[in-house]
Amino acid sequence: MICSSCSRTFPAEDSLFCPYCGKKLEKENCCADCGKPYLPHANFCDRCGAPAPEEEGSAQQTIIDPLNNGESHHGEVYSTREVALGIVYEDWALIHGGEFVMGSPEDELYRFDSERQHRVQINSFELLKTPVTFAMYDAYCDVHDITKPKDEGWGRDSRPVINISYWDALGYCSWLRKVTGWQIRLTTETEWEYACRAGSVTPFSTGESISSDQANFDGTYVYGKGERGIRRGMTTPAGQFPPNLWGLYDMHGNVWEWCASEYADDYNGLEQLSACKAADNQNPRVLRGGSWYNVPGSLRSASRNKLAPDLHFLKVGFRIVREIK
Ligand SMILES: [Zn+2]
Ligand SMILES: [Zn+2]
Repeated sequence: MICSSCSRTFPAEDSLFCPYCGKKLEKENCCADCGKPYLPHANFCDRCGAPAPEEEGSAQQTIIDPLNNGESHHGEVYSTREVALGIVYEDWALIHGGEFVMGSPEDELYRFDSERQHRVQINSFELLKTPVTFAMYDAYCDVHDITKPKDEGWGRDSRPVINISYWDALGYCSWLRKVTGWQIRLTTETEWEYACRAGSVTPFSTGESISSDQANFDGTYVYGKGERGIRRGMTTPAGQFPPNLWGLYDMHGNVWEWCASEYADDYNGLEQLSACKAADNQNPRVLRGGSWYNVPGSLRSASRNKLAPDLHFLKVGFRIVREIK
């Protein structure tokens, strides 16, 4: 596909925007602002409220609010797709708000005291189904002439981007906000665990254990009654393993994911907030999900890790939220 604005070529025919210059690419019967397909006879986009082009002879219709109807499908599951440079509508999973118990029960295997259980409320949001990939991040580097992060020789494209600091991840978010007009940010720690669990209360969204057919980690270690598997020793392309019930890939394993929140050992409320973005705020930020390198205990939904925002690492990437109006 060739962008009519900057004339550059990119692979995703159905992308919502040109990944180089940000030009919005309209799709028939879809909202030009957010890409959501219009409901039949809708006058407005039911996701972002942007007016729909007028349909001839159509009568006024009430817009169905997807967050209050369709209770039966908690989270939307789409078919697998490799996230390319640009993002298509199907790359986002709608995460319905709700209440859940964050943390792990005291009898959970390999848990830490920092995982104190407490009840949390979540608002609805959209989450990228996979970690941000090298393809997505490299486009941003090209535009801004930023040195591309190292891939450790494992390959780029659809593998999750690694070797980026917290500040790098925020830079990507603010670029994407600018080119698309979408409200893009990192997940709070609370949102991350809610999305990872997808309604489950077991150590993993896969149940009492996890196998190396379900996620990328050091499968030569076994969790509970699980089976011994393999160690891949590197990242795998995003989206290769089965998604959780809410359609999210690689929440367990592959790369640790930067969260927006500051880390506090005692869950004092910081987990529900994005950290202050001042450059002198060097407090450690939360990492979640475990990586290709870790033993299965680190992949648990409640497992927590932290890293100083200046640091980057070959086990750490990130995932992005798109806010719903
Ligand atoms: Zn362009
Ligand atoms: Zn819209």
